[in-house]
Amino acid sequence: MRLHYDHLTLDDTSLDVQIVVEIAAEDGEFTFRFSLANGAPDWTVREIRGPFVTAPMDEEEHPALIWPLGAGERIVDPRRAGALRQPYPTRLFMPWMALDAGDAGLYLAYHDASLQTITLNADASVVPGAIELSFGLLPFCKHGETWQSAPVVIRPYSGPWHEAAARYRRWADTWYRPIRSPEWLRTATGWQLVILKQQNGEIHWPYADIDRLIELGKENGLNMLGLFGWTDGGHDRRYPIYEPDQAMGGEHALRRAIRRAHDAGQRVILYTNGQLLDMQTEWYAEFGPQTAAVSERGEPFGETWAKYKDGAPRPMAYACQSCGTWSDKLLDLAKRVQSLGADGIIFDQLGSCHPMLCFSERHGHAKPTQAIGPGVAATLARVQRELHAIAPDFIVMVEHVTDGINQIVDLTHGCGVGFCPSPSGFPELLRFTFPEILATQRHPTPAMDRNTANWACLYGFAHEVEYRYWPDRLYIEHGAVPAAGDYERVGSPPDVATMRRLAPRESAAYLRAVAEFEQRHADLLRDGRFRDVLGFAIDNPAVQAKAYAATTDLGVLVWNPTATPQPVRVTVENAQFAAADAPGEEQVDPSTPLPPESMRLLRYRLTTRHDTHAQQ
Ligand SMILES: [Zn+2]
Repeated sequence: MRLHYDHLTLDDTSLDVQIVVEIAAEDGEFTFRFSLANGAPDWTVREIRGPFVTAPMDEEEHPALIWPLGAGERIVDPRRAGALRQPYPTRLFMPWMALDAGDAGLYLAYHDASLQTITLNADASVVPGAIELSFGLLPFCKHGETWQSAPVVIRPYSGPWHEAAARYRRWADTWYRPIRSPEWLRTATGWQLVILKQQNGEIHWPYADIDRLIELGKENGLNMLGLFGWTDGGHDRRYPIYEPDQAMGGEHALRRAIRRAHDAGQRVILYTNGQLLDMQTEWYAEFGPQTAAVSERGEPFGETWAKYKDGAPRPMAYACQSCGTWSDKLLDLAKRVQSLGADGIIFDQLGSCHPMLCFSERHGHAKPTQAIGPGVAATLARVQRELHAIAPDFIVMVEHVTDGINQIVDLTHGCGVGFCPSPSGFPELLRFTFPEILATQRHPTPAMDRNTANWACLYGFAHEVEYRYWPDRLYIEHGAVPAAGDYERVGSPPDVATMRRLAPRESAAYLRAVAEFEQRHADLLRDGRFRDVLGFAIDNPAVQAKAYAATTDLGVLVWNPTATPQPVRVTVENAQFAAADAPGEEQVDPSTPLPPESMRLLRYRLTTRHDTHAQQ
């Protein structure tokens, strides 16, 4: 079907803007393609929003909304979601959403791999008792220009939400080409994220004290160090100037400390920010105005960071990711970090850059929507290519997931909903759709309880603990229990209640047992495909379980988050039980109840070969 609109009417004025909507129905789905020709002088067509799908929400029975934020969100009652409008790729990690009724659903996607900014909209405020879903396509089509959209695909399906994820993945497989990461990353258990020097200049870990971090890593089993605030400016200050600090011991002390970390089997990642420009620097005075992403009025977009309530806030502009000066800068930073001996660089925020648009005409992007996503992808590909030639084992990390960006990223620092336990968090969405994307859990506290470690293991996230403030160090090193008041100057304190509840040594010992368990079963838990709840049955709903599939084996990871022992029986068709294992256990009898706050891996040998990929 073809709908043709030969002009637009605005109030009483007719505008020479032609719009064609082509709607096709085949293979059990609808596709909508929009095209437009703008012949209206002085007018720019900024947005086409549609198609609109209005789904009635019954009081008693209604579908959940699957929303691709963070690692995934499942909004059980979309009527209370308000008006969601978020951009892909700068906030959402995939351009699709779904209504999930359990045994059936509706898949809505924009099949476009260009990484140009669009919005996904889910609005419960328009029609009472209904949710209205739509896509905001942003052509910015000027007078004399034409534009064509990629297809919007709407597909009703029966079965669980995995059907929707599989539909997206089938399309993503036409362009998703993940890079090959260094072998050492396979056995990376997670990192200690450490802020050596804070924004206010307080030094918490001079370079010589990296030895203490190495010792702590032996205790908690995390074999990576993420060094933040390693520069003379400290953390969230003087970006993008990143040089070793004399006050912390100078460059040679940093290099020596990195070598000692290597000797102890630790990998070292150095921090940079992928987009923030501190506006109070000599760098900004010289390069800022030409580098910053700007609004239509030419004003830089940005955000302000104040880590301490009694410290001066630092206003930061966002670099435009298509600006050549910025691409060169990120490449130089990666080379500099590598030259210091580090094993990798993290570009903080880069997986989810703001703003979603840049209106500068000096950065080489044809449209405001092409500034961010395509720019990040081009720069990361360039960094990977050039660094690979210098140091093949060097890795590139970013914060946040975006599917098209992550194919050129080795490891992601998880951020947002789904990367830590929360009621609406739905990490199944990321892990099932892109099981090969390697990410950390987010845990901004120096120690974690058993269930937080178990939760990350269940979802295949690498672990993290964070030491960001001085009381964090006193706690993790000396067991000094903090009071809430110890963090009163700090904007985003750790979870003090958890710290008070835990004994840091004990907590580290359990985390280490989990990390070793994950390494023992890396063939499933790291290299296998996350199959969520498919391929097995379990008889106790109090126990959470997820399947991981390798070529010949299926692993079912069972976790008892409760405070009482739970009997559990798992059945896998066309497979023979092979072995059971648990963190810190020598021998596991799978017929015994699962102890409180404990996990167990049940390994099955498949008697008929599963082609796990084709099953999707
Ligand atoms: Zn720009």
